[in-house]
Amino acid sequence: MSFTITPLVMAYGPQREKSRFTFLHNFGEKIDLPYVSWLIQDAERGLNVLVDVGCSAEEYANHIKPPGESKLRHAGEEFADVINIRSLDDLLADHGLGTDDIDFIVLTHLDWDHCMNLPLFPDTKVIVQRKEWDALPPHPFIASGFAPDYRYEEMAVGGLELTEGDQQLVPGLDVLFTPGHTPGGQSIAVETPRGRYVIAGLCTIWENYFPDPEILKTAKYEVIPPGGHTDLFAAYNSVVRIRDEAGTQLLPAHHLEAFDMEPVG
Ligand SMILES: [Zn+2]
Repeated sequence: MSFTITPLVMAYGPQREKSRFTFLHNFGEKIDLPYVSWLIQDAERGLNVLVDVGCSAEEYANHIKPPGESKLRHAGEEFADVINIRSLDDLLADHGLGTDDIDFIVLTHLDWDHCMNLPLFPDTKVIVQRKEWDALPPHPFIASGFAPDYRYEEMAVGGLELTEGDQQLVPGLDVLFTPGHTPGGQSIAVETPRGRYVIAGLCTIWENYFPDPEILKTAKYEVIPPGGHTDLFAAYNSVVRIRDEAGTQLLPAHHLEAFDMEPVG
């Protein structure tokens, strides 16, 4: 079975601190961070899957930004508000799909920027790693990176399905257990006409997996773990694993090229 992968970028976080993604590197640099829902399609079998569902400016303003505050402050950074590009349902409509046409949703992890558009899909099965689910509620230090509790309570009464470690979802689509950014993060390996691609589920960019060679000249490490992590060494090992499995056929959750890249396959 073979799938195409299309990034649907519905919104972005403007001018985010880059070291939030590349731990202890790139202090003071700012990046526009895409919020991506990855559309995975097998046209032959009529299968449509979303990996993550992203966020919108409205969801952010109504559920994430503290009431009465002009900005969210989280772990040392004052966040500029989320900016919409196009709504996720409009982006799906471009592909002839309604929200009802999505067979299931895989969440790489439960940070708000990956799950806040779930109310668009009230009847759709949602797949999360058991270790991620069992770690709720989040530790206070990372709690403002997560959705409010009621969003997870809504998920629990819908069609929640829990994965355990590496697992095949359907032939050609596998989850890889890649913890460390959060307790139960998962990545998604996808068979495409161009070979196997991995959507890396940690909040990372290309540079985490393929750092500047200048840095590596004197460093003893090979990759850069994400700035946000619940287990630094597990996060490092997950980044190594994904790089080794994917090579350059790798799509980080916040791939900066997602704004204007061609679909895969
Ligand atoms: Zn993220």
